[in-house]
Amino acid sequence: MSEDAATPQAENAEGESEASDFIRDLIRDDNAAGTYGGRVQTRFPPEPNGYLHIGHAKSICLNFGVAEDFGGTCNLRFDDTNPEREDDEFVEAIQRDIAWLGFETNRGPLFASDYFETLYAWAEELVGKGLAYVDDQDAETISETRGNFTTLGTNSPYRDRGVEENLDLLRRMRAGEFGDGEKVLRAKIDMTHPNMVMRDPLMYRIRHVAHHRTGDAWCIYPNYDWAHGQSDAIEEVTHSFCTLEFENNRELYDWFLDNIDGLPSDRPRQTEFGRLGLTYIITSKRKLAAIVESGKVDGWDDAEMPTLSGLRRRGYPASAIRDFCSHISVGRSTGTTEIELLESFVRTDLNKTALRRMAVLNPLKLVITNWPTDADGNPVVEMRTATNNPENEADGTREVPFSGELWIERDDFMVDPPKKFFRLAPGREVRLRSGYFVTCTDVITDDAGEVTEVHATYDPETAGGQAPDGRKVKATIHWVSAAHAVQAEVRLYDRLFTEAHPGANDTDPLDQLNPNSRTVVHGAQLEPALADTELGQVVQFERLGYFAHDLDQSMVFHRTVGLRDEWARIQKRK
Ligand code: ATP
Ligand code: MG
Repeated sequence: MSEDAATPQAENAEGESEASDFIRDLIRDDNAAGTYGGRVQTRFPPEPNGYLHIGHAKSICLNFGVAEDFGGTCNLRFDDTNPEREDDEFVEAIQRDIAWLGFETNRGPLFASDYFETLYAWAEELVGKGLAYVDDQDAETISETRGNFTTLGTNSPYRDRGVEENLDLLRRMRAGEFGDGEKVLRAKIDMTHPNMVMRDPLMYRIRHVAHHRTGDAWCIYPNYDWAHGQSDAIEEVTHSFCTLEFENNRELYDWFLDNIDGLPSDRPRQTEFGRLGLTYIITSKRKLAAIVESGKVDGWDDAEMPTLSGLRRRGYPASAIRDFCSHISVGRSTGTTEIELLESFVRTDLNKTALRRMAVLNPLKLVITNWPTDADGNPVVEMRTATNNPENEADGTREVPFSGELWIERDDFMVDPPKKFFRLAPGREVRLRSGYFVTCTDVITDDAGEVTEVHATYDPETAGGQAPDGRKVKATIHWVSAAHAVQAEVRLYDRLFTEAHPGANDTDPLDQLNPNSRTVVHGAQLEPALADTELGQVVQFERLGYFAHDLDQSMVFHRTVGLRDEWARIQKRK
């Protein structure tokens, strides 16, 4: 299945994507009906309070993808209304990740904080219209008097303050006369509204903290709900896509836009789609922040993190993430996708692009006792030709040094093998990939009985990978010449969480972090060509998986994914 899924979306004669999902269908309908005069403008609106995660990729691919497909534009707008948690580091990381995914904003990043002055003026406008009031109740009381799904809310005793008093108080809030939490500005809608969001929602709260962009200019900050819809309107966004949890907020956004004068005539229309959830990871910046703070990982961009920066370090190609997002498409319901599906896109992508190399992670010395020596008595070094990528002939071949002492994988040898073990064992012959057939003749052990060296003879007639007499071997193993090997640190990863659905049923996902999620292998022995790998490059270590050279540290490799197609196995089981 992964083969099909990774093929690019079909395009029609005009080069327009024929990708179909309910959102693109809706835009086609809008265009046919002449809504927005055929204009398509979307936006991706992250809050800069963390790094983007794989869930955000779905929203990015949707918003930027739709704009591309319909000749429109997509803004990047930071909804930066919570100064306590926001930071320029996140602003920069988010821009880097979007660019890495392969998308471009049509103009520089926009910020809700650029609209603070306008939003404030509109707040005064609503106060003047008797549609907003200053409430002195504390947060707890406000929350309690809101009611719930079965109980109606009750009016605040401050709800009927006059316009003049409200205006005066709002101005004094802005001027810094009150402490945090002393007062809030609320919309005056209906405390008995069936939609809880409409029960006099908060518009401003007092926070005497500096903002990453506006500094100390403000001590009142707009609530997200008071900023989001109007920011879309200011930017003249046509199609505003958000995840399903904002469905109830739509009515409020529309109420605000209905009651503000002089907005652009193209009113943004919100459409909700299902969040992306993946097994064995979490997609919530807040919870990811907790993992970072726990010290479990080396930061937001650690190769174990399901952030886009983490996945990049891990070796996930941006193209594989885009293909995955277009395959899962967008729907109206929230579901959890198996992580193995994403991995299968990564594997399919890397299978086409990654150069093959040999690396031994758990080295055992193999001595070839009949290997020739030169006139000075040194072992001959023979350059063997190996294919760089059987999937792409253009990648050509390389020369790999072969000599009398090799490293092989400890797992590829057993003194006393069980029935189904076909690799090297005493008396057994195997093929060394791109090398020769070798037969194990002797085993050297230390005092503790641990195998320290395996001795073998090679058959010079098998240079072509076959025996001239037609005899077969049951296994081909990889190797690295000991005298030529370069050393590296290799990090192997298991699932970050022990549970498929971390945090399900009100459990704390931090309690479900897998203590064995990372294994660091020191002293891996690599073929010399790997010394030339660029930082960030992903290669296939033959038989072991795909490995990404770290983005910063030379000779540190991360296992991106293994070779086995886990997704196919899961499909078969279903
Ligand atoms: P988080 O809980 O991780 O902070 P969020 O929705 O609060 O998520 P924002 O920074 O507000 O994060 O997200 C920016 C955009 O990305 C929003 O439009 C949001 O709906 C979308 N988004 C966030 N998470 C997902 C997800 N898992 N799947 C699809 N879209 C997502
Ligand atoms: Mg958020």
